[in-house]
Order: sequence, then C-alpha cells, then structure tokens
Amino acid sequence: MKQIKIMLPEEEIPKSWYNIQSDLPTPLDPPLNPATKEPIGPEALAPIFPMELIKQEVSQERWIHIPDEVREVYKIWRPSPLIRAVRLEKMLKTPAKIYYKWEGVSPPGSHKPNTAVAQAYYNMKEGVQRLATETGAGQWGSSLSFATMLFDMKCTVYMVKVSHEQKPYRHIMMATWGAECIASPSNKTKYGRSVLSKEPNNPGSLGIAISEAIEDAATHDDTKYSLGSVLSHVLLHQTVIGLEAKKQMEIAGDYPDIIYGCVGGGSNFSGLAFPFLADKLTGKKPELRAVGCEPKACPTLTKGIYAYDFGDTAEMTPLLKMYTLGHTYIPPPIHAGGLRYHGDAPLLCKLVKDGFIESVAYNQNEVFKAAHMFAKSEGIIIAPETAHAVKAVIDEALKCKQTKEEKVLLFNNSGHGLLDLAAWDGYLKNKLTDYEYPKELVKKAMEKIPKV
Ligand SMILES: *Cc1c(COP(=O)(O)O)cnc(C)c1O
Repeated sequence: MKQIKIMLPEEEIPKSWYNIQSDLPTPLDPPLNPATKEPIGPEALAPIFPMELIKQEVSQERWIHIPDEVREVYKIWRPSPLIRAVRLEKMLKTPAKIYYKWEGVSPPGSHKPNTAVAQAYYNMKEGVQRLATETGAGQWGSSLSFATMLFDMKCTVYMVKVSHEQKPYRHIMMATWGAECIASPSNKTKYGRSVLSKEPNNPGSLGIAISEAIEDAATHDDTKYSLGSVLSHVLLHQTVIGLEAKKQMEIAGDYPDIIYGCVGGGSNFSGLAFPFLADKLTGKKPELRAVGCEPKACPTLTKGIYAYDFGDTAEMTPLLKMYTLGHTYIPPPIHAGGLRYHGDAPLLCKLVKDGFIESVAYNQNEVFKAAHMFAKSEGIIIAPETAHAVKAVIDEALKCKQTKEEKVLLFNNSGHGLLDLAAWDGYLKNKLTDYEYPKELVKKAMEKIPKV
C-alpha cells in the first residue's frame, strides 16, 4: 500500500535551526538607522528585543542549537506530518506527485508557534515577564498567547480594531490562553491616545498597532516586543519545517522539483524552502525551483521595488532592504489578511533578487477555487493565505498533465481556515471581490520611500 502520511518520531525534531545566512553568496545589506542612514548596532535593538534574538538576527553560524525546553514544547505537535495529496492528484488526473507539509496541527492552527515558542523562551530566560505585540486578523496574537502561557509569562496583544470587532474568535482564543487582547488604537499608550483624540472612531491599522506595541515594550522595564514574521531570526526558527520535510521526502523516496509557499512576510515559505535551497546554494541541486505565492492586491515580490524602506507605516522601525510597495501602501481588504504586508523578509528578498527564488501573484477568487478543490479532495479547509500556494501547485500539476511530466511538487500547508469560515462563506456565495493591482496607490506610496 502507498504511504500517504509520513510521520517522524519525536527524537527526529531537529536539534538545530538552519541559518541560510552562512550560505549566501554575498552578505545581507544591514538594517539602517532612519535618521543617520548608518547601519544600526545591537544596542539600538536592546530595549525591545532580548540579546539572544539580536545575536541570532545577525549570526553567520550555519547551525543554531535549539534549546531542549523549546524542543519539549515542539513535541506537542511536531514533527508535523508530510502528506502525499493522492486524492488531489487523482482529481486533477496529473502524473505530478504532490506533497504538503501540514503545519495546521499546532494548537493555534498554523506555523506561527514555531517562532512564538522560541521567542517566548529566550525572553523568559533573560528575565522578561511580559511580551507586547500587534496582530491583524489574530493568527500571530493567538500564537504568541499560546507560547507565553507555556513559559508563565504575560502577553499583551494590540489587535487592529476592525478585526477585533469583526473576528471575535481569535481574541477569544487569546483570552482562553490568558493573554490580554486590546483593540487598537487604545488609550493604553501615548500614541493610541493621540490617534483617538483626533479621530475617536479610527478603525485601526497594523501600523498603529505596531506603534502601540513597541511603545508599550520601550516604556516598561519588564516588557519586550515580539514580531511574527519578516526578521531573520523568525525565518531561522521556521526552518524546523523544511528540516523535517527533507527527512520525510527522503523516506518517501522523492526530492522536490519545485517548492511552493504563500508569502505574507515570508516566514512559512522560507521555513520550508531554505533547508532545501541550501542544496541549490551549495551547488548540489542547481535545478531546484522555489516559488513564493502572493495576492495581486499586495504583490510585493512580483511588482515591488528592491529598496530600503520602513518596516511599518508609522516609521518607527529601522530601514530594511527589501522588495516594497511603499510603507504607506494600504492593500485592499482581501480575506488573506496575513498576506497584506507592504514589504517582505530581507533574507527572502535577497534570494529573489539574486535569482534563487521566483514569485507569482493571484486574485482571491481563483485562489479560493483552488483551495475548494483541495478541500473536496484532501478534506482540509485551509486558510485563505495558504490557498495562494495551492493555486500555484494546481496550475503546475495541470501543466504536467499536458506535458506528461512526473514532477515532484511540495508546498507548505501553513494553516487551517476554521476561523476564516466567513471568508469561505463569501466565496461559496460568490460575493468575493477581485481587486486589480492598484497601480496608482502603489505609485503614490513609492514616492514616500526614504532616500538612501
Ligand atoms: C500569518 C500567516 C501567513 C503569512 O505569514 P508568513 O510570515 O508569510 O508565513 C501564512 N499562512 C498562515 C496560515 C498564517 O497564519
């Protein structure tokens, strides 16, 4: 009988994370101080991040040890399954072999706890008692709430006010795990109060929520800030996905021709792809392809420019070298909230720039259609974000049907969509809007990119 679900025993949870910085042909451009345009040093980040994460951010070591306490927590859901999507292959009548790494088995339901747990742990070790963060739709906020609970820490999540009102289930999860979730803009911070005094009904934005969380961390000695994507240490922690998948693909007797993942800030895609891309960077698998999949409403890799820009709308972060649509760009309200970010992880962007990674962009209706085929064949109702990767995989599998090629396709199934059923409802009732690429808005936002 064909093996469908490839599991690894607990002792196969990786003992080190893979740091792709050690294999880059040329080093990453450093983050810059927006005032001086000089590279920022570790001391500038110390008020908001613990030392260990600041070190990991710039480390050139190839392997970084995973503490036993973190591996202990990973055991709750890791190693995650690698699944051969035989029913989808049959539905498509494709000779391609489709595999996916299933990250929806974590308690919060996505890949995000892979880094949330590590970040909570290092903060706890350095005596931090509370973490502050922002969340849009609530996936990151719920993951950090879960992680801080496990290490007896407190957690404050600033959640964009419209999402807080429209999507109650994620903040109920946060409350269940003991975190405090505050609708942003709030009167808890100076910045929040300044926004509210001018505009009491401001619906909030990710930019405002980030500013509130950073201010909270910077003004409380026992509190630090935590980010769920984009930064190099976040991508590093996510490499457990690809390291496990490499062993599982070996058991399956296959090596991927093409790897896919959806890209919001770039962490789940990079987490799966980087350990395989190590083989491409070192010349062992020059043919390997990796494709980042994004929405046409926020086409950072496919339409952005490679430049230094702020990581946030409120211009509080250092300048990061990345593909960007401009930090003032506010994407249309597509249901894949986790993909509505104006930039992308600098590490991922560099690999795109250097030609090691490709990218594609889709509209939300075609993406849901693909995810619907996946639900009707494999059974899993996936997140709207993840659906972008499935669309790319199905397109390639159908191409293989024409060319009769038996390509091996692997994608990261980053999370379930069980708290996104309102979006699914909209799709099923034919009520989703496709937003064409908003050329004029992007052009306007590009004018606000800082000159470096
Ligand atoms: C947050 C999220 C994403 C996007 O974030 P990345 O950092 O690009 O991975 C994708 N899928 C799911 C399920 C998410 O929760």
